[in-house]
Amino acid sequence: MLYDRFNRVLKNLRISVTYDCNFNCIYCHHEGWSYRDGDTLTAKEIGVIASVAKSLEIDEFKITGGEPLLRRDIVKIIATLRELKPRDISMTTNGFLLEKLAGPLSEAGLMRLNISLPTLNREKYRMITGVDGLESILRGIEAVYSYKLPITLNIVLLKGINDDEYREFIDFAQRYEAKIRFIELEPIVIDVKLFRKLYAPANKIIDYLEKISVSKIYRELNHRPIYILGNGTKVEVVKWLGNRYFCSYCNRVRLSPNGILKPCIMVEYGVDLKPFLRPTVDFDGLRNAFINVNQMRIPYNIVYHDFHEYSKGDTSSVDVSNSKCI
Ligand code: SAM
Ligand code: SF4
Repeated sequence: MLYDRFNRVLKNLRISVTYDCNFNCIYCHHEGWSYRDGDTLTAKEIGVIASVAKSLEIDEFKITGGEPLLRRDIVKIIATLRELKPRDISMTTNGFLLEKLAGPLSEAGLMRLNISLPTLNREKYRMITGVDGLESILRGIEAVYSYKLPITLNIVLLKGINDDEYREFIDFAQRYEAKIRFIELEPIVIDVKLFRKLYAPANKIIDYLEKISVSKIYRELNHRPIYILGNGTKVEVVKWLGNRYFCSYCNRVRLSPNGILKPCIMVEYGVDLKPFLRPTVDFDGLRNAFINVNQMRIPYNIVYHDFHEYSKGDTSSVDVSNSKCI
């Protein structure tokens, strides 16, 4: 098992399979890439990289994009990952194409789905995503539920747009036995002025959940709190601003569609894996690339003073050597 210089374990690989998207969300961070390069990895190459990750005990795979369901071979990618018998295979999707794909994805071995659902209001949905797609997403959620795939609803909080919808989301999630994840907007790739306009702290929701929940547990990734409600619904809150533990409990690295393995969403450097894949596979080269990228990992908010440029100049931080580790 790999540990980085801050004693943080590495167990999760986030695989972005395409830059393409059928939506144009106002908040999109594009997985931390401000540019795109068209030479996308094949399903086979993704499988080879995942097999090397698995050999290093990285055995949680999250598929993302762009919009992963736009890839015609997305079912094949999932089936390829399943052959490795990892602990977890999940996907984050906008859900627009889920109605038809839920069945094939489930049969191929997908274990759970995160569906981005920024609002339950049709007009707001169109305004946020650029697509009049709410009805399609709701049909997609029905389909996923009918295949008994566990669902998490991802809701990026947007000031004055959806930050007052949390009670509706809690009622909605119960119908599909879904987990809810409220995510504070992250200032990645998007314009700083837009970030300042749209950022809504999760504090109001946290106060509400503290009152109505029956218990609280912490997820290992980012030490995120998960509130358990009386009706059994789980509500996770992804609060990064002012949260010193956030990066201390990060356990992943990220693969871009064109094969760059990078240590953190906040940076645009890493190691290009393509020379180890083409024309022939160099397994030792790939293994060393994982080891090197793991060594590049840093608890970003501790080293960079808790994103102080966004937190009104609060530069309080803890010494890196005191970093809380898992
Ligand atoms: N297209 C898919 C989707 O929307 O779910 C996958 C790609 S999307 C970039 C991955 C996740 O990042 C989604 O859950 C989305 O809500 C979240 N996300 C996008 N931009 C964000 C931002 N600026 N801050 C926080 N989360 C963001
Ligand atoms: Fe970005 Fe996902 Fe929205 Fe597409 S659907 S614009 S990838 S957040």
